[in-house]
Amino acid sequence: MIIILLGPPGSGKGTQANFIQNKLSIPHLSTGDILRQSVKNETDLGNKVKNIMAKGELVSDDLVLDVIKERVSQSDCNLGFILDGYPRNITQAESLNIVLKDIDRNIDRILFLDVDFEVLESRIESRTKENNEEKRADDTSEVLIKRLEEYKIQTAPLGEYYSNNKKFKKINGMKSISEVSLDIENFLNNGI
Ligand code: AMP
Repeated sequence: MIIILLGPPGSGKGTQANFIQNKLSIPHLSTGDILRQSVKNETDLGNKVKNIMAKGELVSDDLVLDVIKERVSQSDCNLGFILDGYPRNITQAESLNIVLKDIDRNIDRILFLDVDFEVLESRIESRTKENNEEKRADDTSEVLIKRLEEYKIQTAPLGEYYSNNKKFKKINGMKSISEVSLDIENFLNNGI
């Protein structure tokens, strides 16, 4: 099963992607995680994207397309995968259609975790106050606000782009984590 997980920063995509990964035993592909790992390992890609990511801006479509093409061709993706953080704009959505067509695969579910912007802003505020080891370099309030702005301009239009697709479902991401997981599970099982 090929699943696209959409939603703004702070909507719980990572948490729910882990839930789906455990449920379906398919890999969770997060372009953000892959890029952060490249930055950490100081690869060519990492060096190119480091400053852009630190500012909360989107990396160029060409660079992430290469990342995605390479990743989905690996054997652990044969039974499917969960895309978290890709596509991030309409151009990427169109590229994804081509990539999947080339490997003769289809998108099976498109999940949109819907969270009001006021709720996100307060989640962002509490996230920046957290002091744990997993805290990301781009989790400062200034950068999170920029990431949210990028989302509104570039990524939110994907909701409209996919809205006529029968595989698309908007899920209320403001419920508790377990309630959201349950709604996701129902949609995965029944496609409604
Ligand atoms: P994320 O972990 O999904 O919030 O992504 C963290 C950062 O990685 C974003 O703010 C972007 O700089 C970059 N990034 C991740 N995925 C993409 C993508 N599909 N297109 C462009 N930039 C991306």
